[in-house]
Amino acid sequence: TTQFDISTILAQFPALQHADGELPPVYLDSAATAQKPAVVIDTLTEYYRGYNANVHRGSHSLTANATLRFEQARETVKDFIGAASSKEIIWTRGATEALNLIAQTYGRANLQAGDEILVSELEHHANIVPWQMIAAETGARVVKIPMHPDCTLDMDAFYTLLSDNTKIVAVAHITNVTGTRNPIEDIINAAHQHNAIAVIDGAQGIAHENVDVQSLDADFYVFSGHKIYAPAGIGVLYGKQALLEAMPPWHGGGKMVEKVSFGGTTFAALPGKFEAGTPNVAGSLALAAAINWLNNLDRKGAEQHIAKLRQQAIDGIKGIDDLRIVGLQPEASLFSFVVDGVHHQDIATLLDQQNIALRAGHHCAHPMLDALGLTGTLRVSLALYNTEQDVERFIAALHKACDLL
Ligand code: PMP
Repeated sequence: TTQFDISTILAQFPALQHADGELPPVYLDSAATAQKPAVVIDTLTEYYRGYNANVHRGSHSLTANATLRFEQARETVKDFIGAASSKEIIWTRGATEALNLIAQTYGRANLQAGDEILVSELEHHANIVPWQMIAAETGARVVKIPMHPDCTLDMDAFYTLLSDNTKIVAVAHITNVTGTRNPIEDIINAAHQHNAIAVIDGAQGIAHENVDVQSLDADFYVFSGHKIYAPAGIGVLYGKQALLEAMPPWHGGGKMVEKVSFGGTTFAALPGKFEAGTPNVAGSLALAAAINWLNNLDRKGAEQHIAKLRQQAIDGIKGIDDLRIVGLQPEASLFSFVVDGVHHQDIATLLDQQNIALRAGHHCAHPMLDALGLTGTLRVSLALYNTEQDVERFIAALHKACDLL
């Protein structure tokens, strides 16, 4: 691990480079999706140029090579999150698909009328809607764990809501609107005391913390590759082996079976049971490349760098008339703000004209925005490739936009 050095990091991101005399784009939307380092992009092209083949079938050496690397990538993910076995690592298209998988398999097999699924008010729609869908089919109820006005979870309410009817508790590790870090350790422990399972949406958390699913004792932990510098279309479902073993499969097709006959079909062992069809081999390899890249850099230094930039941004804009930072969290990599009396999209458009990319809107979190009485916010989300110059340009552009409006 070498010490964090922003110019070495930045140089590895082709999308953030610029021609002489031009300014680079200011990318402040990494919580939506992160830019990719060259090593990740190269992994994709090397695979398609050099050894593209399907995995786990056929008998030629190309497929053997691809299969080996594909399974090595699974090991890389397993080590990255501290899972006990690579059987517990299921490839998915992303966090959304992983959450749907849990709802449709674990949920369908274990929920019945009267059961409750506790879901926090701070969730992304991906960790709400799949639960509503399975609740409608099983007669279970989705129960909201409210948040405080400062956008932290109301833990007293959580402890009160927890009961022996609770079967599933689903919360984000870190939320995407304000960067609130939920106390997932306490949530998991409390869920277990009531024999409920805890599903952790790690879509944002995985990018900023070292995750150890075993010490967390999480039953499920999901994330998307594209938020940790890997391509879109690849993600991970971690589940405890015993739970995954007991769950019925979801998608049916090739590779997830042991033996198929018209008399009946038996299913493959883990992890294949949940991986029907030809997988995103290139995506898996590129996710492993992103993880290896992250493992080789000073992640603590990166987080300190991000924290410094965030403070710089807040200090630079907080004097703007009618500007409010919404639910500011002390250690987040992102923050949301509104300017009272001005529509968030109008500001975003004026920023975009100055080559500043950030997210304006509801951030796929309608219930949280409703609780705040807002229809949208502007969100600044930082990643390890952002620079002080990015933040200076953002501050100047926002002042200019607000002066115009
Ligand atoms: N949960 C959270 C907290 C997120 O931020 C996101 C992505 N915005 C998701 C879930 C869904 O991730 P994906 O769209 O990659 O499946």
